[in-house]
Amino acid sequence: MNTDAVKVLPGRYCNSLTEYSRFITREVNIGDVPMGGNNPIRIQSMTTTDTMDTIGTVEQSIRMVDAGCEYVRITAPSIKEAQNLAEIKKQLRARGYTVPLVADIHFTPNAAEVAARIVEKVRVNPGNYADKKKFDQIDYTDLEYQGELERIFQKFTPLVKVCKEYGTAMRIGTNHGSLSDRIMSRYGDTPQGMVESAMEFMRMCEQLNFYNLVISMKSSNPQVMVQAYRLLVETMVAEGMNYPLHLGVTEAGDGEDGRIKSAVGIGTLLEDGLGDTVRVSLTEEPEAEAPVAIELVRRYTMREKAKGERQKVAAEEKNLSPLTFDLSPSKHSPYEYKKRETYEANAFIGGHLVPRVVVDLSKKNLKDPAVLNEAGYLYSPLLDKYNMAEQSVDFVYLANELPSFTLPGNLKQLYNYNTWLKLADKTNCHPVFTLQEYIGDVDRSSKLNLVHLKPADIDSEDFGSIQLDKSLVLVLETDALHGMAEQRSFFFKMEELGLDVPVIVKRSYLFESESAEAHSPWTMDHGQTLLQLYASTDLGALLVDGFGDGIWIDAPELPTSVITSTAFGILQATRSRISKTEYISCPSCGRTLFDLMVTTQMIRSRTSHLKGLKIGIMGCIVNGPGEMADADYGYVGSGTDKITLYRGKEAVKKNISSANALDELINIIKGDGNWIDAVQD
Ligand code: SF4
Repeated sequence: MNTDAVKVLPGRYCNSLTEYSRFITREVNIGDVPMGGNNPIRIQSMTTTDTMDTIGTVEQSIRMVDAGCEYVRITAPSIKEAQNLAEIKKQLRARGYTVPLVADIHFTPNAAEVAARIVEKVRVNPGNYADKKKFDQIDYTDLEYQGELERIFQKFTPLVKVCKEYGTAMRIGTNHGSLSDRIMSRYGDTPQGMVESAMEFMRMCEQLNFYNLVISMKSSNPQVMVQAYRLLVETMVAEGMNYPLHLGVTEAGDGEDGRIKSAVGIGTLLEDGLGDTVRVSLTEEPEAEAPVAIELVRRYTMREKAKGERQKVAAEEKNLSPLTFDLSPSKHSPYEYKKRETYEANAFIGGHLVPRVVVDLSKKNLKDPAVLNEAGYLYSPLLDKYNMAEQSVDFVYLANELPSFTLPGNLKQLYNYNTWLKLADKTNCHPVFTLQEYIGDVDRSSKLNLVHLKPADIDSEDFGSIQLDKSLVLVLETDALHGMAEQRSFFFKMEELGLDVPVIVKRSYLFESESAEAHSPWTMDHGQTLLQLYASTDLGALLVDGFGDGIWIDAPELPTSVITSTAFGILQATRSRISKTEYISCPSCGRTLFDLMVTTQMIRSRTSHLKGLKIGIMGCIVNGPGEMADADYGYVGSGTDKITLYRGKEAVKKNISSANALDELINIIKGDGNWIDAVQD
């Protein structure tokens, strides 16, 4: 087999932790759009129409291609849908669309074998292809386990033979929520279980000399998804494999939440140089997904180009090195979440406190108390008081500007050092120093001192002479092209030096608000979407690794409300600070039994105040219960106008009318003591 391009050393999961370097996989042929190798990172999505609705599926596929999809996936739940793929393909070709089609298979090997003769790629889920998922806890002996693998091999072999004969590619697509009982019994609900689930099928393919494979490790939890892909790469490489990676976060939801969750998971891996194709899963029209995926991927195309330029300049000038760090990341495991240990800076930040949120209000109207509304403090002019919310920021940065009104007592104010020095009343006010200002014998706050620095400062003499005490917090900012890696390197270095100083991670962006109409592929404000995608990638990638005691997003051209909700959204997606209800809603497909978008909005309108609760909203009972993973409650389509409600994995109300289902769900939540009434504004 071709493993020439396998570069990652065993024990590692990416080429470089300090500069952008794409992990080069083997090239796989999928129709006339190859994936992997040096091909661009491909964009794809999945139809939501009924596969038997030929015209509807063809027209939706065309809209997806026009929006930028390079592959179109269509569900084939049974043989009749698999057969209809031929008609869909014929009509697409007749209209001049040569886009490769992918059949999505769950539970039905016979449908897979039909589809593999028609389309360019089939996707199988190893959790339910000839294996079972009944939430049974069975203990397998080694012999029984091996026997099961042999049984699966017999059932899987015919599909592999068809793929070989017809030149069809295959995605082995593991989902966190649908691991088989067999895998669960041995590895549990873990990234390792996900990896092993795929590796078993990959080894079978290699045993049959079939290498036209693409692999995915999806989860609705970006943390689990990131760990699983990284572990997959390490495991593949250790076994001499380098198959292309299909990246995606499942059931990411809609709107801002869906974009942030997707960017945290997919963006983190792209930063690591991993990924050959991207599917962003939103509970929206499928053509809304491609522009988001394109924007996530475009950054790395630009980065590769810029890196080439940079290397050219460096070679010419011989004095430009990308980073000065000699990394030793061994203390930090990229396969499990462990928050970096820091001290608690006088109960303000760090230690076991949830990550703090900072916003800059220095350029806002500081004569109007309502300016704080967008930072989560709702001002009531009648009562002249503020109401805090779940998404109230912890710190406001005011630079050298003094507000002409009294700020709420629990909101901390940050001033530039020289301005802070001159404040007559320093209650709730804290200084932000430059590194040079902080060293030496200067006046400091007895409670909290922030020092603003760049990652490379850690190697400076000034940093070496910094006074360490528990009032010190660092604000780490970068404007480097591969800034996430530069900031991550700083954390590795801090670990090496044994420094447990809390760190606020800061990034700045210059996006402007632009209405959706100005950019037809966008369903949301373009500038706001870019902020959500980029900040979620840059900051989320650090938070999923346990780095960062606070985040500070600067985007002077965008409303503070957008910055605030993006910051809290990133913390929620990385599960480092929960401030709202989490919706695990599927993107819908040809199996869907109700209008996912309308239903999600309806459920959200009545439950969005239930902070910390996870509600799964799934279009079908075939995959829904498994795919909604660790949801506390589930609302799952089980027939026309029929809904089955779940408490965790247990179906508690089966096949009830969709007209009453939301009321029934709320009654279950109330009965469990998990309901609170919404606060009226
Ligand atoms: S859970 Fe949703 S996306 Fe998944 S198969 Fe069912 S309807 Fe399709």
